[in-house]
Amino acid sequence: MKLLEYQANTLMDKYAIPIQKGIVIDSTEGTAEKIKNAGLKFPVVIKAQVQIGGRGKAGGVKFAGTAEEAAKLCGEMLGMDIRGFKSNELLVLEKKDIKTEWYLSIMLDRYSKAPLLIFSPLGGMDIEETAKTSPEKIARVPLDPLRGVQDYVISYAMDKTGADKQYKDQLKETVEKLYRMFFDYYTMLVEINPLAVGENGGLVALDGKVEVDDNALPLLPDITAFRDKLQEDPQVVEARKVNFLFIPVEESGAIGVMSNGSGMLMSCIDLISKKGMKVHAALDLGGGATSERIAEAVRIMFSRPQIDTVFICIFGGITRCDEVAKGACLAMAQKEGAGKNLILRMEGTNKEEAAKIIAESGLPVTIAEGIPGSVDTIYRIRKGA
Ligand code: GDP
Ligand code: MN
Repeated sequence: MKLLEYQANTLMDKYAIPIQKGIVIDSTEGTAEKIKNAGLKFPVVIKAQVQIGGRGKAGGVKFAGTAEEAAKLCGEMLGMDIRGFKSNELLVLEKKDIKTEWYLSIMLDRYSKAPLLIFSPLGGMDIEETAKTSPEKIARVPLDPLRGVQDYVISYAMDKTGADKQYKDQLKETVEKLYRMFFDYYTMLVEINPLAVGENGGLVALDGKVEVDDNALPLLPDITAFRDKLQEDPQVVEARKVNFLFIPVEESGAIGVMSNGSGMLMSCIDLISKKGMKVHAALDLGGGATSERIAEAVRIMFSRPQIDTVFICIFGGITRCDEVAKGACLAMAQKEGAGKNLILRMEGTNKEEAAKIIAESGLPVTIAEGIPGSVDTIYRIRKGA
């Protein structure tokens, strides 16, 4: 889960990483008063709150000299679209006078199997450009989880990139705080860009990004509470409410795949792709699904207008095939997939009963054999052959 900037700011504030003073604006009413009442010093910076970077270049970061000017800009920026993300909230902050912009992040690096510290004294909006044209200005240092942030790590990162060492102690302190946050909050990424060197010397986080591992959300009520403010896929939300995992795959795909296990789900997606077809979404049913739950899952899949074909692939162990068949019939009887295709492949417990249920129902559910066989069936049916 990717946090919004102001949500990341509350975390950084908790770890005493210096941030700018600011307020969140979520409506166009009384904006000038709200900004005045917040006691912010002018000029201010107004930033669109979206789960995507590069806002500055997309017109999502603006400056204002007075509360009135800020209110006018807020009016223009609320609801603005930044590369497909709508900004329902804005963050208004005291503009910081700065000398230079640094880049700092810690990410979970699968290659070194460690938290990876990335630092550059050439941060800011052109960090991607820096990576291309001056790779020597970017230090990447794996952090040994047993040793944590050692002095030599910071020295190395600054020496390699030619950063001004007078800020070494401050940088080390910031990295230590960020590193603690990285672990405490089960993050995949914590990033500050820019980490600005202020006119008066202090380091300030001007823009924070935090990406939390979804699997840790049950342990993090404060982060879970942030979720309400995020722009989420409606089917992901709907599925989560009933404890299914709905995974959007390819926007241009038209096939929905559901299975009782992520491994089989991936095999199905692989084989469908190999046959030159695209999967729009996948849904993990988990174990022991009842007919009602299967019907609910089919309904969620078909509520996605892009999907013309749903493929259910079941290995019947704890999940019984007859329950799955009943669920498929329940959904089709309610006309969930009217005019669309439902293909069912089952193996295991009560397979014969399941086939009988489908045959006797007279409903348009196609039974297929084996995964490769099912993929051929999907191909044929969608070709209208
Ligand atoms: P991003 O484009 O989504 O990464 O948005 P940022 O919040 O990083 O802002 C983009 C750029 O705006 C920064 O790299 C800075 O150059 C500039 N900026 C943002 N806030 C301030 C501020 O308070 N003071 C100054 N001087 N520049 C700022
Ligand atoms: Mn930024």
